[in-house]
Amino acid sequence: MGFEKFGRVSFTAQTKVGNFVDYLEKGELAGTKCPKCGRKYFPPRADCSWCPDSTVAWIKIEGTGKLVSFTRVHYGPTGFEDDVPYTLALADFNGVKVFGRLSKDLDEGQTKVGMEVKAVTAFLPGGQLSYELVPV
Ligand SMILES: [Zn+2]
Repeated sequence: MGFEKFGRVSFTAQTKVGNFVDYLEKGELAGTKCPKCGRKYFPPRADCSWCPDSTVAWIKIEGTGKLVSFTRVHYGPTGFEDDVPYTLALADFNGVKVFGRLSKDLDEGQTKVGMEVKAVTAFLPGGQLSYELVPV
């Protein structure tokens, strides 16, 4: 499977981090970690931006994260117009910052900075895959 399976709107089929979709298919969210400097990346990067190295390893984004920030989107970009309103959020999973959508099951008034969330695979229409943050 290629990277074209990722997201509501696919922008590319080829990437050096295509395994990201394989993790999503298994219900897992993954980032990468540089074995030399220990920096962790999400979204996953194939190359460390600090070391001249491409030996990064895959790591799973597991457990609970804490919501750092969020914003409500009322005017979606091209391809997302029919999906508004939705909430974009940033959560900290033990030092790895994960940016993504917050579950639509959560009412706007229930969203609070500091609340615990977990990352889950979102199975979209047409066989597309993504992920979202859901309250714990
Ligand atoms: Zn590095």
